[in-house]
Amino acid sequence: MQFIDPHVHMVSRTTDDYERMARMGCVAMSEPAFWAGFDRGSAEGFRDYFRQLTEFEPKRASWSGLQHFTWLCINAKEAENVSLSREVIKMIPEFIHRTGVLGIGEIGLNKNTKNESTIFAEHLELAAQLDELVLIHTPHLQDKYKGTRMIVDMLQERSDLDPSRVCIDHVEEHTVRLAKENGFWCGMTLYPTTKCTPARAADIIERWGDDRIMVNSAGDWGPSNPVAVPDFIMEMRRRGHSEAKIRKIVYENPLEFFSKCSRFQFKAPV
Ligand SMILES: [Zn+2]
Repeated sequence: MQFIDPHVHMVSRTTDDYERMARMGCVAMSEPAFWAGFDRGSAEGFRDYFRQLTEFEPKRASWSGLQHFTWLCINAKEAENVSLSREVIKMIPEFIHRTGVLGIGEIGLNKNTKNESTIFAEHLELAAQLDELVLIHTPHLQDKYKGTRMIVDMLQERSDLDPSRVCIDHVEEHTVRLAKENGFWCGMTLYPTTKCTPARAADIIERWGDDRIMVNSAGDWGPSNPVAVPDFIMEMRRRGHSEAKIRKIVYENPLEFFSKCSRFQFKAPV
């Protein structure tokens, strides 16, 4: 089955991974800006990173016949450095209009600190000013519910951000309701150790339905699997769900969400 991986950090993966994803049915992916595993020393480091995301990765994806889209921001971990974060936020408008950029992301909270909240709010201000889509990272640690609650509260304070243009990612059983019932899109991350397994993601779909929800691998430089979405497809098939329902979650839903970005241009494979 053809699928789209709406959250995968391809800068950390090999060209063989692109090839393997294509062979497993992937036709496109979107890559949020994230933490490189170390804190970058200057805004210039981010300028190079944004060039890599908007210039080199789309080219490398195309070698395997894949379409590559991206999101720009400074992530929550590096948001502890408020002055660096502000320099990076100021640079985003230089890159946001490039082909393949879908919006601002992945922004959000990591340890729910004051500095993280400040920089999260400033990203939201930029997204509102530029009328951009938003992709949100929720904490992985024990404070996930608290962090997601804080994020939803901050989003709801803004009448100029339409929830149907915001995706809250890495939802799990205890946070999906907060995102879904308040009108946001949701992402479920299939990780080998933490976050959701394919079975837990399928349980969440069975409980909460298949509208405004996507699954992703969040493949990155750590233990992760860039072809995790096909594992979810297999789990859904084993449970007897229809091909149409599965396709909606892994293909049509990401397209529906991305299509809200006026720059989004998708060439459906023939
Ligand atoms: Zn990520």
